[in-house]
Amino acid sequence: MASSLWPQMTNATTTDFEPVIGLEVHCQLKTRSKMFCACKVRFGAPANSLTCPVCLGLPGALPMVNHLAVEYGIRIGLALNCQIAHRVKFDRKNYFYPDLPKGYQVSQYDEPLCFDGELQLPINDATGNPKVCRITRAHLEEDAGKSIHMGHSTLVDLNRAGTPLVEIVGGPDLRSPEEAYVYLTTLKRNLSYLGISDLSMEKGSLRCDANISIRPRGQEKFGVRSEVKNLNSFRAVRAALEFEIKRHTQVLESGGKLTQETRLWDEEKLETRSMRSKEEATDYRFFPEPDLATFDVPREWVEKVRATLPEMPEKRLLRFLHDFKLNQPDAEFLVGEKALADWYEALLKLYDEPRKVAAWVVGEVNRELQERHVGIDEFKVKATQLVELIKLLDTGKLNNITAKEVFKAMAETGEPALAVAKRLGRLIEQDEGEVDAAIAEVIAEFKDKAVADFLKGETKVLGFLVGQAMRKLKGKANPKDIGARFEARLSEHRS
Ligand SMILES: [Zn+2]
Repeated sequence: MASSLWPQMTNATTTDFEPVIGLEVHCQLKTRSKMFCACKVRFGAPANSLTCPVCLGLPGALPMVNHLAVEYGIRIGLALNCQIAHRVKFDRKNYFYPDLPKGYQVSQYDEPLCFDGELQLPINDATGNPKVCRITRAHLEEDAGKSIHMGHSTLVDLNRAGTPLVEIVGGPDLRSPEEAYVYLTTLKRNLSYLGISDLSMEKGSLRCDANISIRPRGQEKFGVRSEVKNLNSFRAVRAALEFEIKRHTQVLESGGKLTQETRLWDEEKLETRSMRSKEEATDYRFFPEPDLATFDVPREWVEKVRATLPEMPEKRLLRFLHDFKLNQPDAEFLVGEKALADWYEALLKLYDEPRKVAAWVVGEVNRELQERHVGIDEFKVKATQLVELIKLLDTGKLNNITAKEVFKAMAETGEPALAVAKRLGRLIEQDEGEVDAAIAEVIAEFKDKAVADFLKGETKVLGFLVGQAMRKLKGKANPKDIGARFEARLSEHRS
């Protein structure tokens, strides 16, 4: 049913090779404390102020599992249609890094918390069916610290060490940089509905590594892949993948050989360069974390978490299109951010005119939010106030131009619509006598020309007559109302 909605994706590369892309996304969880200790999770604190023997990796310090982080992991898994493991098991992944004092990272190896999920994308694949990307697994792990390079020395800040992460591993199902981009935006939108992370690529709470290989079209077997790191935005992911597809194609077409490796994206030169040849999984010497016992994930817990999941955006989008008869760009815009979609629905509870209300949110409200760099939660105009304004417009107390002017002032001060309209002198308060007098004057003035034409059936001169009356009333009237009054008055003349 949904398939016809989505655009067809055309692969920009029309060479003999088909790209195969899989993305790994790291999502930092917004828990109050770290994965295995009570240290606070906070961005921007003084270096090494949020540390303890556990996250410093001091000998003898023992970790404890943060159960909220596990619950957030389950939340992510359920939202991505994953199976949830029956027990939580952690493993040590051994490698040397200057910002990882233990010499290993606690992660999940053979028993990820979530597995076998999928993410449906709002695009069609080459066969015209909705594109689905498998979610191979999503597992819990701890973040490393940060190395800061200053002059000739390297400093280490371990505030981030031990922050809970979920690594979401997408299947090798994406076939173009554009599809990868759509995957990332869709994934981010879905995660934003869960309230479990800041999802800021700038602050590093959302990170992405891209795996890419190419193969002759029609070939089943994957080609040699490279993994690209240091991708700081979704745009960078797309650009790096485009670069890699060209590079792989050139190497293969010139009879060269690719090697499996990890490459870094250079944002300035817009190219990737080799960082290291890729370690095999065995290089990490994974083994079960001896300091943490495994523990069960009862199905009751999973079902409890499932019951707290919000309506996810793809479902909400279809509901908005179907129930509210919105056009697709408006519906997608509203659904793009949970708080905004919630606000829109709150407006509808007060005033059941879905398209009219959507036009205000997508247009004027969005413009003000952009200009003021605020989210809907911080917006000064409350739902009830916007509805009051729309009602003033509907009842002819404001017109399209003055309503927008009043709204701008409301966004500035947070005052109610009626108060602003009065303060700005924009409220159309009709003095019946004055209106009648103006209409009578116009009829007398244009008796021989426009009025006569109108009576002969030339209804289009009505606009002219209304304009004349509006001028006499200095614009403080509702043109629709004036038009109706003219028609009523002139019908008397006709008979
Ligand atoms: Zn700690």
